[in-house]
Amino acid sequence: MSGVALRELPPLSLYVHIPWCLRKCPYCDFNSHEKRGDVPEAQYVDALLADVEASFTKVYGRRIHTVFIGGGTPSLFSPEAIDRLLVGIRTRLPLEPEAEITMEANPGTFEAARFRGFREAGVNRLSIGVQSFDDAKLAALGRVHGADEARRALAAALEIFPTVNADLMYGLPQQALEEALADIEEAIAIGPAHISAYHLTLEPDTNFHRFPPELPEDEVSADMQERIEERLAAAGYTHYETSAFARPGHRARHNLNYWTFGDYLGIGAGAHGKLSFRDHILRETRERKPETYMRSALAGNAIDELRDVTVDELPFEFMLNALRLVEGFPAELFEKRTGLPLHTIARELEAAESDGLIERDLASIRPTLKGQRFLNELLERFLPAARPKPRRVINISSPGTPHPS
Ligand code: SF4
Repeated sequence: MSGVALRELPPLSLYVHIPWCLRKCPYCDFNSHEKRGDVPEAQYVDALLADVEASFTKVYGRRIHTVFIGGGTPSLFSPEAIDRLLVGIRTRLPLEPEAEITMEANPGTFEAARFRGFREAGVNRLSIGVQSFDDAKLAALGRVHGADEARRALAAALEIFPTVNADLMYGLPQQALEEALADIEEAIAIGPAHISAYHLTLEPDTNFHRFPPELPEDEVSADMQERIEERLAAAGYTHYETSAFARPGHRARHNLNYWTFGDYLGIGAGAHGKLSFRDHILRETRERKPETYMRSALAGNAIDELRDVTVDELPFEFMLNALRLVEGFPAELFEKRTGLPLHTIARELEAAESDGLIERDLASIRPTLKGQRFLNELLERFLPAARPKPRRVINISSPGTPHPS
């Protein structure tokens, strides 16, 4: 065993990955595959449900607090397939009666009747990948939809779902500060209760990394971030995580479970999971290729990689998530989730505090504004001493971190 000793298990969420998209976006490093012909939704739902059944022993007796159907582009699936998936999940796993059930949708797949079907299937939170309201910027991002489709999809979603999130991106190719702000203004005017604003980054193994577009200077991007945060705050959206802004009562419970180092069972091609037991914490990854995933899930084992998180990795893994929270986290959460006393990281916390990166009192620990701006530098301090420092800026996304889709 790994030396972990937990007094209680954290809340459990379910992540469902649907790996197909209409077209691969040049900035995207997620496990998404351009669809050719019809997506095999019936077979894929069978595989997902077989995957749930094969996971029973690992989550036995635990309730599911939230479900997130992400991708890829889950809205490529028909409402009937999503209904069969959610009914199948409910009959196999104990879902909280008020569970948040989120689904990602691409405006390029928008039809009002489809959205209504997803709602009837039980989806109560729709996250729409808008990215921008500027057609030229959407074309530069390789998106399949235009600004008008995004506007129509948002307007319809607001009529149908109790909570709607709009994903936006800034720091886009040749984007000026005013253009980024115009996107935010339009999102505020349309009025989803949750807005995620991501900075475009050039991830390895993407077309943008191979053929980099001309991006705004760092100072311009930093100005965009600052002005976007100011504008959203003035419009009543609380900035509660690096990229997430919500009106009261609409924070993403599923993502909050990642950021408070909760557990999640991840099913679907390439999905990551993190599951705690009293004496170890498991990370698992499913087979990445959709066909291999379906074949192996239907045969009873879709796991590709499985490993215990070691005790010396836990402080970094915890901080990688919790320090994304603008309001920080309760001091006792560290021990609850890792089983380690807080004094394990006393030296790192002290140094981060004296460098002005965090502030703390007896009740909580939170990143300062400087800590939020220099999050990578702050996080690196919690890497296990034995592990060499990364040569490039670490990717601050944990396997469960949401992304612009
Ligand atoms: S960004 Fe979203 S829509 Fe584009 S390829 Fe990636 S998962 Fe698909």
